[in-house]
Amino acid sequence: MTIESRYQEIQGRIQCACAKSGRGIEEVLLIGVTKTHPPESVEQALRLGILHLGENKVQEASAKKGIVGEKGVWHFIGHLQSNKVKNAVQIFDQIDSVDSLVLAQEISKRCEMIGKRMPVLMEVNVSGEGSKFGVKPEQAAVLAEQINGLPHLELRGFMTMAPLMEDPMKSRPYFAQLRDLRDRIQQETGLHLPELSMGMSQDFEGAIEEGSTMIRLGTILFGTRPKPTREFFEDSI
Ligand SMILES: *Cc1c(COP(=O)(O)O)cnc(C)c1O
Repeated sequence: MTIESRYQEIQGRIQCACAKSGRGIEEVLLIGVTKTHPPESVEQALRLGILHLGENKVQEASAKKGIVGEKGVWHFIGHLQSNKVKNAVQIFDQIDSVDSLVLAQEISKRCEMIGKRMPVLMEVNVSGEGSKFGVKPEQAAVLAEQINGLPHLELRGFMTMAPLMEDPMKSRPYFAQLRDLRDRIQQETGLHLPELSMGMSQDFEGAIEEGSTMIRLGTILFGTRPKPTREFFEDSI
């Protein structure tokens, strides 16, 4: 299967999930997760009109951007270490996985130095799994206000990863939880948090039905991820 035929099938499934939940397809942004895929996959995605790309390594994204040029909207979706922020703010248009106040402060500081205002999402660990990054739901309101108060950040909403489930519909309660949390925090704080980044290859339809505005699709769009190559993973930045 080509990326194009996969993309067509996915678009049909997005339409169905939107129709089922009374939402418009324009409410759901598809982010093509190109991590470990070669620059050619990025170029193909861009040609098909998939303009939003997700990467989880600064060095890897930098190498790919160097090849495909200044095209697309690049989202950082991984765990960002403080020592990578300086480069990350130059390469990425949006950081969708802010998981601590210290990280948010560093991003704001580095953005100030280059005169940039960064749209960000706060990652929330709704499942409470120890293996996952993200802030605890009970800390989310306070942290959202603190992050929103930083001068060079624009907090746009929340992101989460549901636990891997054999039955993808079992992920839905986690997506509902993030939406409810967002609704409650918006009410309590008056913050404007329109974005919910939730749903991956396995579980994007349930996520759409629970109100996702950004689905992050890798495998289902680009195929099985190849082994990371040295070129992209050598951490020379
Ligand atoms: C890899 C990754 C994805 C894409 O996963 P697939 O299951 O391949 O669709 C989405 N979100 C994050 C944060 C990821 O790291």
